[in-house]
Amino acid sequence: MPRMKQAVTRQAQQVLNLLSAENCHMTAEEIQNALPDVGRATIYRALFSLERQRQIRRLALESGVAVYEFSRPQHMHFICENCGRIEDLPGNPGAEAMQSLEERGYLPQRADIMIYGICLKCLKNNKEEQSNV
Ligand SMILES: [Zn+2]
Ligand SMILES: [Zn+2]
Repeated sequence: MPRMKQAVTRQAQQVLNLLSAENCHMTAEEIQNALPDVGRATIYRALFSLERQRQIRRLALESGVAVYEFSRPQHMHFICENCGRIEDLPGNPGAEAMQSLEERGYLPQRADIMIYGICLKCLKNNKEEQSNV
């Protein structure tokens, strides 16, 4: 691990540890519930500074909810409209679009691709329900 340029408070480190779990996307409230010893204001401050340091990313979902995740190499998201589950998907089709923008003189910085639909688990549950009728 390269040494981080800015000092990370102990609380911010706790938030980082939490978010670094695989496929982890949490709302500020969920983070707060997971760290009951840390005050609400401290959590918000930690999230704000970690986001500014680009150690975490904030994703604004269509539902108006924002979730936080550890900064991983660019990936896409699948959001289940039934259970709200968020999954990381590999790949970044936005890279090509960013490159073409760059060639035209723009300064693209991120491409967030979110695909909404029904996840495998919900589809499976639905099928089972139907076969039980
Ligand atoms: Zn689902
Ligand atoms: Zn993600």
